[in-house]
Amino acid sequence: MKNCKTTCSYCGVGCGISLSKDKDSFLSLKGNEHYPVNTGMLCSKGMNLHNTVMDKSDRLLEPQMRTAKHHPLQNVSWDQAMTRAAAVFKSIIKKYGPNSVGLYVSGQLLTEEYYLANKLTKGFLGTNNIDTNSRLCMSSAVVGYKKTIGDDAPPISYDDIENSDCFFIAGANPAWCHPILFRRIEKRKEQFPDAKIIVVDPRKTQSAEMADLHLPLIPGTDVYLFNAIAKLLIQYGAVDYHFLESHCNGGHQLLEFLKDVDLIESAQACGLELNLIEQAAKMIAKSKTLLSMWTMGLNQSSIGTNKNLALINLNLLTGRIGKAGSGPFSLTGQPNAMGGREVGGLANLLAAHHDLANPDHCNKVANYWGCGSVSSQPGLTATEMVDALDDGRLKAIWVICTNPVVSLPDLEKVERAYKNAKFVMVSDISSKSDTLKYADMILPAAGWAEKEGTMTNSERRISYVPKLIEAPGNARPDVDILMHFAQKMGFEDAFTYPNAEAIFNEHRELTRGTNIDICGVSYERLKKNSIQWPCPSTDHPGTIRLFEDFKFFTSDKRANLHVVEAPHQSEKTNSDFPLVLTTGRIRDQWHTMTRTGKVQRLNQHIPAPKLEIHPNDALELGIIDGENVEVTSRRSKSIIACQVTDSIRPGTVFLPMHWGYINGSKQARANNLTSDLVDPISKEPDFKYSAVRVQALAKK
Ligand code: SF4
Repeated sequence: MKNCKTTCSYCGVGCGISLSKDKDSFLSLKGNEHYPVNTGMLCSKGMNLHNTVMDKSDRLLEPQMRTAKHHPLQNVSWDQAMTRAAAVFKSIIKKYGPNSVGLYVSGQLLTEEYYLANKLTKGFLGTNNIDTNSRLCMSSAVVGYKKTIGDDAPPISYDDIENSDCFFIAGANPAWCHPILFRRIEKRKEQFPDAKIIVVDPRKTQSAEMADLHLPLIPGTDVYLFNAIAKLLIQYGAVDYHFLESHCNGGHQLLEFLKDVDLIESAQACGLELNLIEQAAKMIAKSKTLLSMWTMGLNQSSIGTNKNLALINLNLLTGRIGKAGSGPFSLTGQPNAMGGREVGGLANLLAAHHDLANPDHCNKVANYWGCGSVSSQPGLTATEMVDALDDGRLKAIWVICTNPVVSLPDLEKVERAYKNAKFVMVSDISSKSDTLKYADMILPAAGWAEKEGTMTNSERRISYVPKLIEAPGNARPDVDILMHFAQKMGFEDAFTYPNAEAIFNEHRELTRGTNIDICGVSYERLKKNSIQWPCPSTDHPGTIRLFEDFKFFTSDKRANLHVVEAPHQSEKTNSDFPLVLTTGRIRDQWHTMTRTGKVQRLNQHIPAPKLEIHPNDALELGIIDGENVEVTSRRSKSIIACQVTDSIRPGTVFLPMHWGYINGSKQARANNLTSDLVDPISKEPDFKYSAVRVQALAKK
């Protein structure tokens, strides 16, 4: 094959790409003009994706292992590596039980890889200790959807953008983080100038710059804002009482609760003029539709679940769901976070949206897999795994396609925990992952375009991702690595597949009769067209929008509104730590930069991390724009150049999360500082709220 149609492997937008290789395997790409998501458009990251693949300078080429702790890593054969890895896992499980091992995986895995990793862990290793870096971005949205519409099922389609006249974007900066979706919003605004864009964010981001209205609220106060807007929607006559009566539970209780919401107190809690909140509510009330969009600003919070519920209340109160242009739309961060959730990729989920807490579902899946049983006890989540490594409950961990030593909160603890582990195995494509510092075994993996499989984007669209080139050295697709390991563990019968398609077909069959039924999807169909689930039969075209009949995925088919309050569960600021640190992404970098950091053009946009601080705070602290400052939290400190800017609220500072070790120094890492508090339900970390102090380095 010299040309193929594939999908971008960065963000959850899932843009289509036309990829070509010449006789020297030199790759070139362009946006796929016929792909419905992006119709030929690509953002800066997508346009440079082939460059990350062609630059092999950092690639891991051979399996490596230590013969004993602290011995140097040595190149070994795949058979030696897998024999040793299986022997270590078997011995630890025998001595300490199955819950002493775990896997930490990634929303960048293909669905087939994700499926196998879950089947191996939950079905055959005998533990639910498999979690994913999607815990760090999507788990609050998963809970929000389940509690309101009955399942983790984004009801919207990107086509709703072209049908909407009101975009309520909260805790998200799609102009930088989901650029092609934002381009579609901009086009809609160009064609229909009456459409309103409202952005809720403590920072004046590029998305906020483009908005009709920006609400720069105090971090963590979103629930106050959403409740105030809900109350105003009643006053402005925008509540759909017929919809509430006919299709929802909890409407009456919410309307009663909102009677007691004090608008002036809410505005004060948010640090906003009441007039701004009224303007937002009027824009929503006057619109015919409501597309509410959110991501990390709501999800990465100690009250992330509450923020999701309070936002989804707005769609349900107004009956704006299941209709063109309307619905709650969680913007997915990673290319296959959705596919990962389909196969049960979190420690509290089960394959094909079965319920881990339901013993019948556990039995059904166990019978299907032929593994005897699946425990209904949730496994350790991303941050719980760190605690368990730290205190010795978790002895061995296999990290696949993610870099926790940069991306998790409270990195001093993370590094101590990984150092403490008896056995750390890491599969990755790149030697630049900081997690490799702690690896006892390193497994070289194939990357994008070097393996085949499927992914699902934020609008439930499944796409086929083909192999076009060979992986370098002895790097192998993750499915091959997982199968090899499972076979060495003695699970040959359940882990011998001729190809990725056979794994997909097994996953597909498990979805039969569920809300995500994809029994009508095949590689053959996907090679021609992407398909949005559910798609239960081969003659089914796929589902553009869910709930057009207003029958939700709850047991009584009614959506649930929730009375939501806003307890402050983040760590407290005080005179020692008076500022709130919030973290986030920048336009041209992706996660921990192991891929985008290789591309010169992408590094030019923002070459180094900078702490954004408001001029009032800078003046009070005697800080000059561009000088190095020391940022200290209750956990650790970082030293970073500062950028004095009025695009951030006074009292709040911002750091990008991408950078790990730079030239051997870890002083610029945002996650040195971040709090490891989590939402009690979703277990998603509170990345958006850490108490810090900032001091000019020169004055210390
Ligand atoms: Fe890739 Fe996302 Fe950019 Fe599309 S918007 S090209 S999926 S990074």
